[in-house]
Amino acid sequence: MMLDRPVALVTGASRGIGRACAVELARNGFDLAVNYLADQAGALETVRLVGEAGGRAVVLQCDVSIHDAARQLVLRSEEQLGPVEVLVCNAGITRDALLMRMSEDDWDHVIYTNLKGVYNVTKWAVRSMARRRSGRIVNISSVVALRGNPGQSNYAAAKAGIIGFTVSLAKEVARYGITANVVAPGYISTDMTDNLPPDVKEALEGQIPLGRPGTPEEVAYAVAFLSSPQAGYITGQVLPVDGGLSSGFIL
Ligand code: NDP
Repeated sequence: MMLDRPVALVTGASRGIGRACAVELARNGFDLAVNYLADQAGALETVRLVGEAGGRAVVLQCDVSIHDAARQLVLRSEEQLGPVEVLVCNAGITRDALLMRMSEDDWDHVIYTNLKGVYNVTKWAVRSMARRRSGRIVNISSVVALRGNPGQSNYAAAKAGIIGFTVSLAKEVARYGITANVVAPGYISTDMTDNLPPDVKEALEGQIPLGRPGTPEEVAYAVAFLSSPQAGYITGQVLPVDGGLSSGFIL
């Protein structure tokens, strides 16, 4: 029975939002390819949680910013589990600095990981989806792409790029029965936001109509829905999961 489960590949699934997506997709009947960059123990913990949720999982180390490594990631996932039906491009980093102080390395690292990484993995995964005439792509952007944020011009540029990339891709691949959508989280409690200064956290919470940070699981529910058969007529869309932070913005 387990062999018939469709496969989801989640990048950056060793912790935070990626781990929550992997676990929620397992609850929804998927086996999981759990990608990570450096935190193998975290990735193995995700595998354990996927198992508890009823799925099989493999861990696949890969730096998504490297084009050929991303190709190997998709190939290894297909060899070990079968064709990738759902791709969640979640891997992301921040290297915050005001533009006048932002180094070229801070710019390149964020653009290469957060934006080129999405191109790299999607390019290889979408080929077999097209051959099979089936697939779901969910890319993780951010409300920062819509609102901007001082100190995050690199991050906002990458996350806005993901939106342009995904809505274009949605139009390219619709003919193959593949959907491509974006989830744009707001302020979510993870390692990425853990070390923000308390006053910044307080100010952020003050701007959120629901008055609190979100949880990784609350993002994962949206990702799982967009990955499901029930979302088959939704493509090229951006779904904010942000407690109302971006409400009123016209996309
Ligand atoms: P975390 O920092 O908790 O986790 C980041 C994940 O990305 C880790 O699994 C990490 O792997 C992986 N990763 C980083 N670089 C690479 C790489 N080059 N190749 C492969 N994997 C990589 O982040 P979050 O869970 O908070 O964020 C997940 C996504 O959601 C990101 O794209 C982020 O930009 C986005 N987001 C987060 C928000 C938040 O408030 N937390 C808000 C809006 C968007 P490893 O552990 O091995 O290093």
